[in-house]
Amino acid sequence: MNHRYGKLRRGIKQPWLDDFVTACAVNTIKNKRPDLTLIHLVDMDSMRHRNGVRSPQAKAALQRLDSRVAKIIQASRDAGTYSDTDFVILGDHYQINVEKMIHLNMVFAEHGLLTPIKGKTTYKNNWQVTAKTCDGEIYVYAKDYVNLSKLKQLIAGVEGVERIYDGAEAVKLGADPRCAFLVEAKPGYYFTDEVNRPTVVEKVDPNSLGTHDRYRAVHGYGPNQPNYFTTAIFAGPSINQGKTVETAHLVDEGPTFAKILGLHYPAPTAGQVIPGVIKRWG
Ligand SMILES: [Zn+2]
Repeated sequence: MNHRYGKLRRGIKQPWLDDFVTACAVNTIKNKRPDLTLIHLVDMDSMRHRNGVRSPQAKAALQRLDSRVAKIIQASRDAGTYSDTDFVILGDHYQINVEKMIHLNMVFAEHGLLTPIKGKTTYKNNWQVTAKTCDGEIYVYAKDYVNLSKLKQLIAGVEGVERIYDGAEAVKLGADPRCAFLVEAKPGYYFTDEVNRPTVVEKVDPNSLGTHDRYRAVHGYGPNQPNYFTTAIFAGPSINQGKTVETAHLVDEGPTFAKILGLHYPAPTAGQVIPGVIKRWG
């Protein structure tokens, strides 16, 4: 595929990467008629990170995505598989605009809980406490002997921290059970893993946008943030036409797809089939 369509790409830059992926998908659908096709288009995610959630660049990306979907649908018509095909268009997150970074590991460095490496934004492996970012949230890991209630107080005092989940609460959310805490930022803030920055909380320099971990918008917040939803659109012969489902959970998508495909897992899975979507099962 790269031999055939590689000229469409400019490395992994958008929007060219999605054009390349779409060309590959169209060719595969037409020539191989697969039973299941999974396509990941990232143009709008990239444009939101770089320019903001509702920026003109993000809206332009949405229009490009629309025309890519049209090409993919047309490919199934050309392959003669359209009338048998169920299409699902989904996102796995929205985004929230940000202005400030929280370098949480700097707080741990200030308290001797980890050791920054001189001249770098990284730190030595012999940490007692470390934070690993998911942008809107961050995992905190601690060695067994660390006093967690003191640590929690330390984190709670940092500007931009909205909420701290302890390990047991994190497990209930489906997060990593090995963490000491899962920490959520307030909208407008996000976390990095960096140390040796000028201040713990730092404004994002507009000139740094597009470099590693420098954003105008991010995801990774908890699912209870206001106006923080994503999309799922179903269409095809198995799908109830014209229905709207008010809310569902991301973990319900897998079981719904399995049901559409007639697949059965030998073990229970997270989530459940979204009611009202599938025609045959009501
Ligand atoms: Zn993203």
